[in-house]
Amino acid sequence: MNYQQAKEIAIASVQQGAILCEEVRKNIPQALEKEDKSPVTVADFGSQALICKALKENFPEIPIVGEEDATELRQESSQNTINQITEYIKHIIPSATQDDVFNWIDYGNGHVSPCFWTLDPIDGTKGFLRQDQYAIALALIADGEVKLGVLGCPALRLSEGDTGWLFVAQRGEGAYKMPLKGGEKTKLQVVTKDDVSRFRFVESVEANHGNQALQNAIAQSVGITTDSVRVDSQAKYGIVSSGEAALYLRLPSPKYPNYRENIWDHAAGAIVVEEAGGKVTDMYGKPLDFKSSSKMNDNRGVVVTNSAIHDTVIEAINRE
Ligand code: AMP
Ligand code: MG
Repeated sequence: MNYQQAKEIAIASVQQGAILCEEVRKNIPQALEKEDKSPVTVADFGSQALICKALKENFPEIPIVGEEDATELRQESSQNTINQITEYIKHIIPSATQDDVFNWIDYGNGHVSPCFWTLDPIDGTKGFLRQDQYAIALALIADGEVKLGVLGCPALRLSEGDTGWLFVAQRGEGAYKMPLKGGEKTKLQVVTKDDVSRFRFVESVEANHGNQALQNAIAQSVGITTDSVRVDSQAKYGIVSSGEAALYLRLPSPKYPNYRENIWDHAAGAIVVEEAGGKVTDMYGKPLDFKSSSKMNDNRGVVVTNSAIHDTVIEAINRE
């Protein structure tokens, strides 16, 4: 496996997906409803189609475990939706047909294997619809661990000012960020200053995706005095990897105690933070399992830190 080549193709495909997403967003997209009642938009499908096409053309043998599925799109009632998706794709690939689009989305129906990609074509669809944060998240998993992660955050503004960042990590090689449209790379490094009271802490906007009361209590108990910053999507991992927050907590929602996290919601973000010097585990301190299934069945919650405060946070969560 040539990771350098894989990284370049992953970056280019995520940039392409981001262009489509931003174009859809300018036109104020409508939310469609999936069978599980979660929202999806033409941009989720379009982004998955573009990224899967690029990956399959270059790595035909590597399966892709993507979030979206074209089954509902094939129903007659979805004709208008597939027409819209095909139009957006044609702005980038003029020769694309409706059948191509179905096939490209279907490439994302692969299974967890010894080596596979996992893709969230729009992570944080609710943020995307609110004109807020979202991410395009792609990771390569091989030999039981995440080897590459590419996270596109088109609406993210960091303290440096630019809006739209790409976070890239390769196992053992470190992580960097660069403007999503291209430009200078900056090495990522989690915050190391030891004044914990000034550390920032991030959590989801959606209260049902975590336990905000407990998350805030834990952050305070480890000495963080500022209010949480609420951000949609894996942009939270980008913020921690850039040193702009020291903690991201995602503890199981009391409303959904049996919820299991999806690998595509964490794989790309986790390697970006780890390669920036941070640590990612579940709420018991167990490594996240990206290799067994598309759901992390043996993990509960997610804890992301700058490493330095990790053990203290895990202890605070598990104190009786
Ligand atoms: P975020 O923007 O960080 O809130 O994360 C968005 C992701 O949360 C979506 O991609 C969903 O897969 C995931 N999600 C949906 N329901 C839950 C839940 N009950 N607990 C945790 N995550 C969830
Ligand atoms: Mg997601």
